[in-house]
Amino acid sequence: MFLRLIFIQANLYYVYDVAVVGAGPAGSTVSYCLAKEKIKVILFERHRFPRRKACAAGLSLYSIELLKELGLFSEEYIVNETHKCKIDFVIAKEVFEADAHICLTTREQFDEYLARRAQEAGAELHEGEGVKSISIKDDFVEIRTSKAVYRSKVVVLACGQPNVLGKSIGLYPNYGKAIAFEFNAPLPTEYNLDYCEFYFSLDKDFAGYFWIFPKKGFANYGVGTWLHTVTVMKKKYGSVVEWTKSILKDLGYWNKIKDIKKHLTKIKGAIVPVYTNAKAEDMVMDRAIAIGDAAGLVRYSGEGICYALKSGQLAAKALMKCIEENKFDKQTLVKYYTEPLDKEVLRELKYTSKIEKIMTYATDAVIDLLKKEPEVLNLLGKMLEHSISDEKYFNESSKYARKHISIAARMMAALLRGTLKGT
Ligand SMILES: Cc1cc2nc3c(=O)[nH]c(=O)nc-3n(C[C@H](O)[C@H](O)[C@H](O)COP(=O)(O)OP(=O)(O)OC[C@H]3O[C@@H](n4cnc5c(N)ncnc54)[C@H](O)[C@@H]3O)c2cc1C
Repeated sequence: MFLRLIFIQANLYYVYDVAVVGAGPAGSTVSYCLAKEKIKVILFERHRFPRRKACAAGLSLYSIELLKELGLFSEEYIVNETHKCKIDFVIAKEVFEADAHICLTTREQFDEYLARRAQEAGAELHEGEGVKSISIKDDFVEIRTSKAVYRSKVVVLACGQPNVLGKSIGLYPNYGKAIAFEFNAPLPTEYNLDYCEFYFSLDKDFAGYFWIFPKKGFANYGVGTWLHTVTVMKKKYGSVVEWTKSILKDLGYWNKIKDIKKHLTKIKGAIVPVYTNAKAEDMVMDRAIAIGDAAGLVRYSGEGICYALKSGQLAAKALMKCIEENKFDKQTLVKYYTEPLDKEVLRELKYTSKIEKIMTYATDAVIDLLKKEPEVLNLLGKMLEHSISDEKYFNESSKYARKHISIAARMMAALLRGTLKGT
């Protein structure tokens, strides 16, 4: 106890420029970018690598582009690439196929790769050391972990969700509460490895989808939707396992996956903080900044890795300027972090809830549009592979929708209904 106190005291005088909480894609990216510029960074991760994280681990073309730009791309963690996607509207019994290039990884490989690159660049990675509390003082930030106490000039919250630490210091941007569940199991018999499969409208007014992402020798299966829908489904089926089993049976996959019962018991869920209407200013406070999932930066499709990378990159650029000026107040962080974040991330994310409302409440209109206007199917594929932004997808597909009065009217009604329901 006495020795521990001395150790804690000693650390109190050991100051870092930046402390980063969480070594997911967001935390490792910001640490890597800062360490490369010789900034003194400490990166805390409560688990040891390789660690499992509930995720389908699909990397969109946008993620790949960012990884290349950051110098963090490697074939090492790509386990498969698909070039087509099947888009199935289940209750309407309508199936479409589109070109969509998606790279598949595993979070065990991907996250460890990024964390090691941050470490090689000079970030001090503390694995297996969870942050217990953060205290924002006038001149520094005090970080208490399971092992010691540290000081830094500024702290970056990259701890994903639930963002308990953010809540404790008042840095907690709001988001739409979705949950996604996933598990790995062998590929279904005769599965085409070039396809990712998306199953929408699993039920009436069902937001979200079930997916199959093929990896090397196995596939990732999962379902994501709003928290309130999960509650309804649990009531209807008894448990998430039974609900997923019924989806697999309905889709004809239950008897096509070896040992499915055993693998399904390993299903794992996590919060998906879907962007709703948080403002960029909500993502900073004096001496603290939130990035990635901790800032609620996820699009309707559940894709969040790209924004974790992008917000990590933008945060690093902003913090370089703050360090240069030795200013870490909210106003300075707003100036350097939130303005580019608004332009490069939130501008797109503002369209995500519109797309979700139309997909959920005007499914029949979406299907009609896809049948009448093949270019919209092309756009949907591009939106899923994220080679076009949600903004572009929404604006371009709306142009086609306006050519058909009944489709446009149903889509408008869906937007209104979603707004009135507050989803
Ligand atoms: C089932 C599911 C499927 C998904 N599929 C995809 C997909 O295919 N493609 C995609 O782009 N996105 C997907 N997402 C979203 C994606 O997982 C997230 O957007 C992404 O992981 C966000 O990265 P992050 O670094 O912000 O947070 P995280 O990846 O959550 O990393 C946070 C890290 O912080 C650590 N941590 C937390 N608290 C502490 C603490 N107190 N001290 C120290 N360390 C701490 C955690 O252990 C973790 O390592 C999916 C999400 C779910 C739930």
